[in-house]
Amino acid sequence: MVEADLETLDPQDWVAMRSLAHQMVDDAFTYLETVRERPVWQDIPAEVTHALQEGVPLEPQGAEQAYQDFKTHVMPYPLGNIHPRFWAWYMGNGTVMGALGDFLAAVTNSNMAGADHAGMLVEGQIVEWCREMLDFPANASGLMVSGASMANLVGLAVARNVHAGADVRSEGMAAVPRPLIFYSSAEVHSCHQKAAELMGLGSRALHKIPVGHDYKIDVAALAEAIRADREAGAEPFCVVGNAGTVNTGAVDDLQALADLCDRENLWFHVDGAIGGLLTLSPKLKPLVAGIERADSVALDFHKWLHVPFEAGMALVRNESAHRHTFSLTPEYLQHATRGVAGGEVWFSDYGVELSRSFKALKVWLSLKEHGVRKYGRLMEQNVAQAHYLAELVEREAQLERLAPIELDIVCLRFNPGGLDDDALNSLNRELLMRLHESGVAVPSYTTLKGRYCLRVAISNHRSTFEDFDVFVLETLRLGHQLLEEGFHITIAGS
Ligand SMILES: *Cc1c(COP(=O)(O)O)cnc(C)c1O
Repeated sequence: MVEADLETLDPQDWVAMRSLAHQMVDDAFTYLETVRERPVWQDIPAEVTHALQEGVPLEPQGAEQAYQDFKTHVMPYPLGNIHPRFWAWYMGNGTVMGALGDFLAAVTNSNMAGADHAGMLVEGQIVEWCREMLDFPANASGLMVSGASMANLVGLAVARNVHAGADVRSEGMAAVPRPLIFYSSAEVHSCHQKAAELMGLGSRALHKIPVGHDYKIDVAALAEAIRADREAGAEPFCVVGNAGTVNTGAVDDLQALADLCDRENLWFHVDGAIGGLLTLSPKLKPLVAGIERADSVALDFHKWLHVPFEAGMALVRNESAHRHTFSLTPEYLQHATRGVAGGEVWFSDYGVELSRSFKALKVWLSLKEHGVRKYGRLMEQNVAQAHYLAELVEREAQLERLAPIELDIVCLRFNPGGLDDDALNSLNRELLMRLHESGVAVPSYTTLKGRYCLRVAISNHRSTFEDFDVFVLETLRLGHQLLEEGFHITIAGS
């Protein structure tokens, strides 16, 4: 093969590619600037689904064509969480700077496994900033991960290895003398059960403790469960506190849980996916008092901080325990003292992944752009909007609030009166689907004490107060439409 035959993936025409890139940026900015004018969500037309089932492209279609296909088939049909009236599950909107950060991370394309390059210092800064924001000690360790599911797994794995009473890394779970048990409220996120299954503990090792009317863990019931489990020969090792539950946003009494863990010599882990960074608001910070006493915390930047997916953080008080859970250094990954293989911290020593993306960059750029106090104010804004929506619901005789408002989550249902819970459940299920199809607003759903709710989770920096007026009007309109159609009579008779 001669020089002239060599191929590369770089553009053949840099000028044309640069102009296409500028077009992409222009289109992207227009798309975000006008997001409010479009439906939150819309059904994908059959021809689009068909177009996205093409066979593997063997020959070049070209950058222009590839981009055109994205623009026609993908860009118009997003999940919708960039929209001001998307309040489903618990997500963030993303930001312009965050998006550019992902682009720049890909341009430098540094692998964040380890080695000596500036990207490692950037992720080091994010870890340091998290320590400061949570009042954690300076020698705590941290690792950026895809999100809180992974961050919770990391924290729980360290907790398990510290408390197993055996060398789990070499001997496995079979060597553990007594069954390991960990605890959380019945409102805990499902990722903790996944973690229990994955770590070889089994899902039954997660004991779910009842909550009170406020959906917070019953601490006395927890203490009693720990006592009973010990008496039965098991080994309680960890308590997971919720800084914002996914159903209702309830924050457990983290001080009481920290006290209990101190007394009982248990690992205290906090799932802070939603509210871990409430510390950024002086007003809301008291709600999560005690989080600074945790042994490990899981955080999500892609939720209330609106960094584009994915970006989470596992923070562990005991750096050595963290490293000893994950570090494994074969000869081809030995760290050097100089040269590119130098560098003090290798993140691959603190988690499962070796090759890692430079997701720290979009977080770093975002926090520098706005300053963290603004994020605190945005949280307060969303909490105020949750209370505003709750007032609107209070005022409407045919709407019913189904849970207390602690943070930014409102659970409600359409209740015209005279229907039992089963009928109301079916009615509200249909109402929610019609609301989604209307494209006007997208809340999600949950079931509390057997009652199906529309669940409005307001982690949205684009929502205005008026957006909630629009939502309430549309919910009532669709509810009445269902009644006029006789939907409630059909279901009552079925
Ligand atoms: C979203 C969420 C998780 C899972 O986080 P991911 O970022 O989706 O992996 C865990 N716990 C709580 C309380 C959550 O809200």
